[in-house]
Amino acid sequence: MLYERNKNLNQQLQNIISSNGVDYLGIADLSQAHNAILEQGGSLIASFPFSISIGISILDSIVDLLPQRNEKAVKVSYRHHVYDIVNLRLDLAASIISSHLQQSGARAFPIPASKRVDDERICASFSHKLSAHLAGLGWIGKSCLLITPEHGPRVRWATILTDAPLESAGEMQKDQCGDCRECIDICPTRAFTGKPFRTDEPREARYDVKKCEKYFDFMEQKNEIAVCGMCVFVCPYGRKKKI
Ligand code: SF4
Ligand code: SF4
Repeated sequence: MLYERNKNLNQQLQNIISSNGVDYLGIADLSQAHNAILEQGGSLIASFPFSISIGISILDSIVDLLPQRNEKAVKVSYRHHVYDIVNLRLDLAASIISSHLQQSGARAFPIPASKRVDDERICASFSHKLSAHLAGLGWIGKSCLLITPEHGPRVRWATILTDAPLESAGEMQKDQCGDCRECIDICPTRAFTGKPFRTDEPREARYDVKKCEKYFDFMEQKNEIAVCGMCVFVCPYGRKKKI
């Protein structure tokens, strides 16, 4: 009976994402990462047993123009369509899913697609990438981005935390970066160390987020629209259709 109820809820979520232009749905059992989640987000965030990852693939026609990002038209399109609009679509879908879960008697707590809550550590209250990784949607690459086999890092994410009785079907994917170093070599700030992801190491072992942050601050101080994303552009898993 419980199994049937879980299956029904999973199917209802699938229907919601299909009718809201969302490409990815994954359910993660968070018990395996409880300590890391508690450390990042505190006891409220760590009180939920499951997370629902939703993802929207971003437009190749814009990402492929990032090497020409000094052109204003490219920057404007990237900021608008790859960040602002996709984030809004994700937050809207997360809100619809959360309301649906609440109506079915569960707690639901949507984590915004892109909102920082800790300026010192430069992070959100919960890692969308960790959730998507635990849900089996991809692996965390040397760029610290979630890499999907289908679209590489060209996907934006949001998460809904919940205690709904869901089935988490996904198996965590193994790192498939291999010997590739393209994101490391292309980063203008040399922000990545090249170390592969390990669950027992902090983000700082792989990525100096402050270098990336300073680069964006520098562009903003010059009154430019701050855009980089070369680590997203270059990953062969996202560019594979053209290789
Ligand atoms: S956005 Fe640019 S500066 Fe920041 S990590 Fe990626 S490649 Fe480096
Ligand atoms: S560019 Fe290469 S090393 Fe970087 S995340 Fe993609 S596959 Fe991994």
